[in-house]
Amino acid sequence: MYVDDEGIIRAARVGVVELDMVKRVVSVKTALPRPRLPSRNRAVYAIVVGMPREDLALVKIFADERMVPYNGFFTAVLHVSQVSDRPVKSIYDAVKPGDIIRATVTSPAAPYVVSIRKPQDGVILAQCSVCGHDLYRVPGKQALICPKCGNEEARKVSPYYVLSAKRSKPRV
Ligand SMILES: [Zn+2]
Repeated sequence: MYVDDEGIIRAARVGVVELDMVKRVVSVKTALPRPRLPSRNRAVYAIVVGMPREDLALVKIFADERMVPYNGFFTAVLHVSQVSDRPVKSIYDAVKPGDIIRATVTSPAAPYVVSIRKPQDGVILAQCSVCGHDLYRVPGKQALICPKCGNEEARKVSPYYVLSAKRSKPRV
C-alpha cells in the first residue's frame, strides 16, 4: 500500500481489503482470478470439430449461455444418444463439423460431456456441405436449406438458429 499525492491510501495491488481491528492493520489480500468453467446443466456454445465415429462428435466449448467467451476452449463429447428423445441413427443426422451448437453440459469435468436433447439446444449456425453458403432454417422442419444451391440437410435445429428462410422457399 502507498499514500498518493492527495494523501489517500491506495492499494498497490487489486484484491480484497482485510481489516484487522486487533492489530489495527489494513491489508489487501490478492484475489486469485477464479477461472470460469463450464458447469453442469448450464447451456454453452460450441463448435463441432470432428466425428471420430458415427455415434460420436467432438466439440469445442467456447462460450457460456450468455455468449461470453471462455478463456480458451474446452473439448467435449456429444454422443448420438444425447441428440434427441427419439432414437437417432447417426450423429451426422444431427450435427456436422463446422456447425455452431447450443448444448447443455451434463458432465462438467474433462472430458466434458454435452447434450442437445433439450428443445432449445441444437445447431444455431451451419454451412452447406455442397457449396459452403450459410444454411437457413426452414420453419417447422428439423432441416436446413441452402439458399444458393437448394441443398437440404438434416440437423437437430435449435429455435435459436440465427438465419431463417422466408415463408416461401428461397430460390436462386
Ligand atoms: Zn449450397
